Order: sequence, then C-alpha cells, then structure tokens
Amino acid sequence: MCGIIGYCGPRPAAALLAEGLKRLEHKGYDSAGLATADGGTLTVVKRKGKIAGLLEILPPDLGGSYGIAHTRWATHGEVSDINAHPHVNCAGDIAVVHNGIIENFTALKEKLQSEGHVFRSETDTEVIPHLISSFYEGDLEGAVKKTLPLLTGTYGLVCVHAREPDRLVGARNGSPMLLGVGDDEMFIASDLTAIVTHTKQVVYLEDGEVVVATPRGYHTTDMRNRVVDKKVEFVGWELEAIEKEGFSHFMEKEIFEQPQSILRAMQGRIDHENSTARLGGLNMTNRELLDVERVKIIAAGTSYHAGLLASYLMEMVARVPCSAELASELRYRNPIVERDALYFAVSQSGETVDTLYAMRELQRKGARVLGICNAVGSTIPRESDGGVYIHSGPEIAIASTKAFTSQMTVFYLFTLLVARMRNMSIEGGKEFIENLGRLPDLVQTVFGQKEHIRRLAKKYCRYKDFLFLGRGLNYPVALEGALKLKEVSYVHAEGYSAAELKHGPIALINDETPCVFLVPDDALRGKVVSNMKEVKARSGRVIAVCVEGDQEVMDVADDVIPIPKVGELMYPFMMVVPLQLFAYHTALELGRDVDQPRNLTKSVTVE
Ligand code: GLU
Repeated sequence: MCGIIGYCGPRPAAALLAEGLKRLEHKGYDSAGLATADGGTLTVVKRKGKIAGLLEILPPDLGGSYGIAHTRWATHGEVSDINAHPHVNCAGDIAVVHNGIIENFTALKEKLQSEGHVFRSETDTEVIPHLISSFYEGDLEGAVKKTLPLLTGTYGLVCVHAREPDRLVGARNGSPMLLGVGDDEMFIASDLTAIVTHTKQVVYLEDGEVVVATPRGYHTTDMRNRVVDKKVEFVGWELEAIEKEGFSHFMEKEIFEQPQSILRAMQGRIDHENSTARLGGLNMTNRELLDVERVKIIAAGTSYHAGLLASYLMEMVARVPCSAELASELRYRNPIVERDALYFAVSQSGETVDTLYAMRELQRKGARVLGICNAVGSTIPRESDGGVYIHSGPEIAIASTKAFTSQMTVFYLFTLLVARMRNMSIEGGKEFIENLGRLPDLVQTVFGQKEHIRRLAKKYCRYKDFLFLGRGLNYPVALEGALKLKEVSYVHAEGYSAAELKHGPIALINDETPCVFLVPDDALRGKVVSNMKEVKARSGRVIAVCVEGDQEVMDVADDVIPIPKVGELMYPFMMVVPLQLFAYHTALELGRDVDQPRNLTKSVTVE
C-alpha cells in the first residue's frame, strides 16, 4: 500500500528516506520515489517497480538535509516512472508526495492547464504542486493552506520547497499522517513503521490538520490557521504491534477498517450526474457492455461468496442472467464459452491459482475475462482483459474480511452500471447510489455490537457444530459466515439456504447445534422466520441477526444481534460484519491463532 516519509534534520536525507521506504515495503506498492533539496535545487528520483530498482538509480552523492519519499499504489494513471511520486510544479521547486485520491482533479487540472500549467503525469496528485505554486508568495505553509480547501477527496501529503530549507509541510484528510519528533530532527510519515527506529515520540494528525516541521520544532494548525495543540505520544509497541495500529490482531483491524475500505472501493467511481458507476478499468465501451447477454463469475473461497452474491444482485437489479462458479471446477470441465458472455475472475491476491488457470482456460477459448482483485499489478489483473481494483489496502490476516465487502462493493457498482444501461431509471440509480453512500456509516454502527458479540461468542464457543442460514442475497452471506467460523476457530459450520433446512440439514437440529439465522427486513423475512420457528420446535438454539426492534424475531430467537434497518439490497453488508466478529471472538475464546490459522495461506498459489 502507499506510504509516505519525510525528513528534516542534520543527517543526509536521502539515506534516511531510502531506509524508511524499505520499512514501508511489506505493505505492497507499485513504484517508489524521493526528492531531496540541496542548495536551492530539488532532485527527484523515482521509478516504477521495487524499491531495489529505485536504489539502483539513486545517485550515491545525493545531498540535502530535507526531503520526502513515497511508495505508490496507483489509483489514477498507470504504473510508470512518470506517474510515480514525488510530483513537482512547472518550475520544479515544489515537490509533493500524496496518498489518497483527489476526486475533483479533472476540473482543477483543466483550469490549471488553461492558466498555462504543464502537466507531466496522469495522476490526480499532480494538481497539488501546481496549485501550491499558483498561490506561492515565499511561504510554503500559506500556499498549502490556500490549496487544501480546493481539494475534494482524500489525502495524506507532505511537500517541500527548494528554497525553504529544512521545512516540511504535511496535511491530512482521510489518509493517516503522523509526525515523529526526534532530537533536532523531524519526520512526517503515513505509518509508524517508517520512522520508529529513529524516534518513539509521535504526534498523530487528525483530518483537517496541517503540520509544519523543521529540525528545531513544529506547529500544528487547522486549515483556517487556528493553532491546534497536539499531544506528543510515546510509542512503546514493538514493530509488529504497531502495524496492527493498536488492534490485537490484523483480522480485528481489518474488520474495523471496513467503513474506510468500502468507501475506497467506491471512491471516484460514482457518476452522480448520470446516476451510474464509472469503471474505466473494464476497458469496455457502453456498446460492448450492452451486447453482454450473461455474466459469469469464477472465484474460490470468500471471493466465490462475493461472486455468488453478485449473481443474485445482477439478476435482481440489472435483469442480466448471471452465475458464479468455483474456478477449480470450471477449469476441468471443458467449459463452454458463450460469445455473448462476460466473465469475471475474482481474487483478493490476484494470484489464486485455481482462478488464474480457469481464467487462462476461458481466454484460450476466446472469452473476455475481467479481474476483480486487490493486489495491484498481480497476475490476474495483468493477464485479464480489464478489470477493477477493489483498493482494500493490504489484507494481512489470512481470513478475508475487508476484501469481501470491497469485492461486494465493486459488484454493486458494476450492477448499477449495467442496470442503468438497461432497466434502471435515473431516479432508481440515484436511490441505489444514496444507499451505497450510506454504507460506511451504517457498517460503523454495527461495531457498537462488538461487546455483545464477544459475549455471545463466549456463550456459544463450546458448541462443535453450527448452521448458518440465510435466503436470497443473504444466502451467500450465510456461506461466508460459516466459512469464517471454520477458518479461524476450527469449529465445524455449514452455510445453507434457510429454505434448504427441511430438505436435509434439519436432521441435525438438536440443542447441540446452534443455528445462526440472517433475518433482514426484506420480501423473504416471513419465510425465514418460519424456518427459525421450525428449528425452535425441535429444541434448536437460534442466534438471529435481525433488524433492531423486530419483536417477532426477538421472541423466537435465543439471542439476537440487532442491525440497523437499511435498503433491502444493502443487508448483506450489515449481515456479514457481525458474522466476522462472531468468528473472530469465537477463535479468541478458543485460543486460536487468529491471523494465521493452521493449514491456511493468504494467497493460494498451488492447486
Ligand atoms: N492517487 C495517487 C496516484 O494514483 C496516489 C496513490 C497512492 O495513494 O499511492 O498516484
């Protein structure tokens, strides 16, 4: 993932920045670069690919006692040397590194170009140095503060000016930024790991804050220049813990990151004017999309569940036939490729071998296969005919959580796009977009149930078998809930359509087999409630995830996990988060290795 480090102080900046970049390396990135200033001149060195490649071209005698560095995780503009950060203004005396997305960059760029600014890259970021230079009157801080209010979107950024020695100006809005306070030296970074070997004293910036650092001191203000007093915090953690950012496990951190990761999957992809989605990476014209008569999704594990959910959604909302299939099965059954079908290969890592080989088999037969992946530059995105990155950021816990909801988000966007070309009205599109836009906040509210879910996990962790039951859109969520529990707690769990209960699994029901029912307030609610009653009639135990205040469900179930009432199509997001937390806490109660459960690997690269 993208990373930032800036330095000012008595030591040679280039070496410190290079070291910081190495420490950010494990997070994943596609290019790297740095800029240092010496004697009134800025030198920028940047390169796509690994940091080792950047270090090869780094002049050994690169001077300067202040500078900035970046690992890029491309969002706007291909992965290339030119698009790597830092970016500079026309005169080359202001350099900026940026994490995040400037959503209104197109309008800003057009205006700046009309004023004579010449752009070199395709990035959204490059508008920032040009804007700063247009306001610059000998004071970098002042120019930055005039620039920031013009930016819509997210950023963590640091900038330097060639003729303002030893001064870093950093700002944050939506992307983490912190200041490291050393002895006569200062750091600004996106991540503690980049600087923690140099100082353990840090100041965390909040959204809307600006920090100016020199070797002798720093000051923090808001964008309107009002002083903000910040506490210096002492970091006592070990490196590994720091990367978890205060959470006990990566799985926990990633569950709690979902409001942000869902937002990232949506960012820059909603065309409000036309009430549709904008997915440029598909590499398909509207005409080609219109010719698609069916959609087929191939994937494995959690990604398969996201695909299955998408198959329901596509048919319901876009009225396009859609099916999901396990990639490992498809590959060996000599699949029939239909001319008018569009295929998706879904994989968090982009390296899942079952999915990759199935994709190659389909492509060999002439299919158009698009990728939905997280890891930028991985094999599936490279070899696919187009696709969409989910932009979850690195998912370190082996059991996937945030990647699942981000894959879902991307499928919701694709469904919107296709539906708006066919049967969905502008009004319908608007409503769909509004519902999507509310998701981050709504998911956040589910976290209020954390303690309650922990207590439920404690109560139920001694049971050996669970059933997870849902219908319609929430059937794939039931499968995912069961998979999560299996993966991290090693407790046997099966997911079923609630309607299937009476076709077999009901034989398992007794007071030793808890059933987790997903009961949204949708058209199938009544049916699911009947299924719940069937279980209760056989002395089964029921945990229901249901809409708060649903008295009927509360009366039947032994325990409930309440979720807010949302638009019918949005329940899968609300349902899956409590199930992730339930799996997480059950695993903890049972003393499991939550982040690295036995026998599993993050990226399945063997068949
Ligand atoms: N949006 C910027 C780009 O594409 C920054 C990406 C990042 O966060 O690394 O260059």
